[in-house]
Amino acid sequence: MPIISDQGLIINKTPYGESDLLITFYTLERGKMTGIGKGAKRSRKRFPGRLELFSLVRFTGFAKRGGTLPRIDECELLEPFQDIQYQPRAFFSGCYFLEIINRCCPDFQANRQIFTLLTELFEFLSRPAGKNFACQVRLFELQIIVLLGFAPLLDYCLSCRKREKYGELFFDPEAGGLICGDCHYRYPLAFPVSPGTIAILNKFLQSDGSLRRKLNFTPRIMEETARLCRSLLRWHTGQQFKSLQYIDAFDQSGHNATIKSTDYLPKQFSRMS
Ligand SMILES: [Zn+2]
Repeated sequence: MPIISDQGLIINKTPYGESDLLITFYTLERGKMTGIGKGAKRSRKRFPGRLELFSLVRFTGFAKRGGTLPRIDECELLEPFQDIQYQPRAFFSGCYFLEIINRCCPDFQANRQIFTLLTELFEFLSRPAGKNFACQVRLFELQIIVLLGFAPLLDYCLSCRKREKYGELFFDPEAGGLICGDCHYRYPLAFPVSPGTIAILNKFLQSDGSLRRKLNFTPRIMEETARLCRSLLRWHTGQQFKSLQYIDAFDQSGHNATIKSTDYLPKQFSRMS
């Protein structure tokens, strides 16, 4: 069985024994995969840098038959995206995406669009935050949700098919989209969403994604979009995302929280995948 060689973004890492690391990558050719970095905690020659989360590396290793974890022999650091680690807002947002990928992507199912979008996201998060930072993060989230196959349907009521653009509108994560005011009483999970949010999200979903850089949401659209995305991910995974607690605490602190990433990460990501 073959030697493996691929590019991957580091989306999780856990100490394994005295000198090894379990490293989960989102790779270009294989999708999500976890391997054992033999001696990764000690060998600076074969594993340069500190193999931080978000880093893009090229790695080589060996995969045996029979379901044992691939062995990672060597990593070359291509792009550390290290500034994400030093900006709490970017870091917490990034951790949320790592959790989404760790939870929602099956192993060894390649998706180059997800790899490309994650690379673009990490580039974005490692730059100084612009004025529409929060809006762009929401739209990256929506794009990831679409690529995972959970795209919301917002054109018409999924119950009666009416194309309602005004009045009371609702979103139901179980139905996966819009429910009108006449039908919502049959959907216990449905919650209200304003027509303005539905219109702008529909416009974005029908675009090629380049709108992301141009849009800026009002606080109401931001809040409703976050609720919509979170409810969809929760419905599909059946789980509450741990990183959201940290994001909410950080937002409520007025972005003044200082949480050391080294304290936070091992608890957050160990045994997640
Ligand atoms: Zn309806």
